[in-house]
Amino acid sequence: MQLDQASTEQLREWESALSAEYEQHKAAGLSLDLTRGKPSSDQLSLSDAILSVLGNDLSNDGGIDLRNYGGLDGIAECKRLFAPVLDVNEDEILIGGNSSLTLMYFAVLFASQMGFGDLGKGWKAGGDTVKFLCPVPGYDRHFSVCEHLGIDMIPVAMNDNGPDMDQVESLVKADSSIKGIWCVPRFSNPTGIVYSDDVVARIAKLATLAGDNFRVFWDNAYAVHSLSDNAPKLASLMAAARKAGTEDSVYLFGSTSKITYAGAGVAFVGMSAANLKAFKAHLGMTQIGPDKVNQLRHARLLKDSDGLADHMRQHAAVLKPRFDSVLKHLNEGIGDSGLLSWTAPQGGYFISVDTLPGLAKQVVAMAADAGVKLTPAGATFPYGQDPEDRNIRIAPSVPSLEEIDRAMQVFVNCVKLASVRQRLAN
Ligand code: PMP
Repeated sequence: MQLDQASTEQLREWESALSAEYEQHKAAGLSLDLTRGKPSSDQLSLSDAILSVLGNDLSNDGGIDLRNYGGLDGIAECKRLFAPVLDVNEDEILIGGNSSLTLMYFAVLFASQMGFGDLGKGWKAGGDTVKFLCPVPGYDRHFSVCEHLGIDMIPVAMNDNGPDMDQVESLVKADSSIKGIWCVPRFSNPTGIVYSDDVVARIAKLATLAGDNFRVFWDNAYAVHSLSDNAPKLASLMAAARKAGTEDSVYLFGSTSKITYAGAGVAFVGMSAANLKAFKAHLGMTQIGPDKVNQLRHARLLKDSDGLADHMRQHAAVLKPRFDSVLKHLNEGIGDSGLLSWTAPQGGYFISVDTLPGLAKQVVAMAADAGVKLTPAGATFPYGQDPEDRNIRIAPSVPSLEEIDRAMQVFVNCVKLASVRQRLAN
């Protein structure tokens, strides 16, 4: 189907056939959901041994009583397990509760209101305007953190190898009120791309170009979430920062939300030892210590880097066919018609598609009318505003293969129908 070469008559024929198909989908009374990126029940079950792995044995390396208060920075077993995930030293990681988003929120809050580490006073202490760079499309909750804390957001373009670094560098050089950048560096949410070594090296050097107290928020949520063993690797940000002498300017985050239980995992943050000490001084105002019993469960279940890699291979076995099904429908249903462009990620939780300009909201609404729920168009942009109204995030982890198959038939139909109608209207 090549719209730009089609006659009006041909377009009308397509419109009528696609409309008929759309009405059939609507009549089927579907209720399918391709929205949030969370593990399916099958994936959660891969970790069920976590409930019995402790037995009555709560002994840990540090000899502390894990049932009690304390140990704000987490247990040694988990530091050993997760420090390699972020590629930081064991004295540069704090193991927290069940959410890395909480740690990110606190990091932005502390940095902006109070300051920590070598930040001195908080970014906003003098009522100053603070801005963050937001590679787009990106993760909606990063954007809500900024909005909630009164931080202005500047969208920057994403390329196949990471944020457009020419744009990023010229923005931070020109405007000293830009204090941070959000990055999801491996299997980015939602495009699934992996930042190249060159991009990682340039990001590590941003603090040397930016105004005072610039920070990189490195949300490595999908650090070990590859769909195959030969997925692209990510260069070490902390190593690049050490080389550039900027190690105080990077904050790294991760969690087991999509490794064990999304609601009952453990989260971690990596920072220079000096930053971590100062971060803990604030964090200690919010809690006496994390759930160390759950931390030990994780250390016993996953054991070490090899154990973690084996566990992630089991996730990949569940996820890969779902990604393949989405891609099969896009390849077979849309192909090279130019109606849609999409990414074929080698890990993570999402496939990101771009419709023709001005059609994303309409496609999402049409799919919803036919019983297929998609993430609201615009959600992948700051303030929910996709300037070209093109991007849609597909999250295939939760529905069954049969459901994906059915939902993607509807999706492909909606994309084609919306595109043909737009062409006819113009
Ligand atoms: N960061 C990214 C990029 C995510 O996609 C998600 C979950 N969708 C999170 C963070 C949330 O992580 P957590 O459960 O550790 O708060």
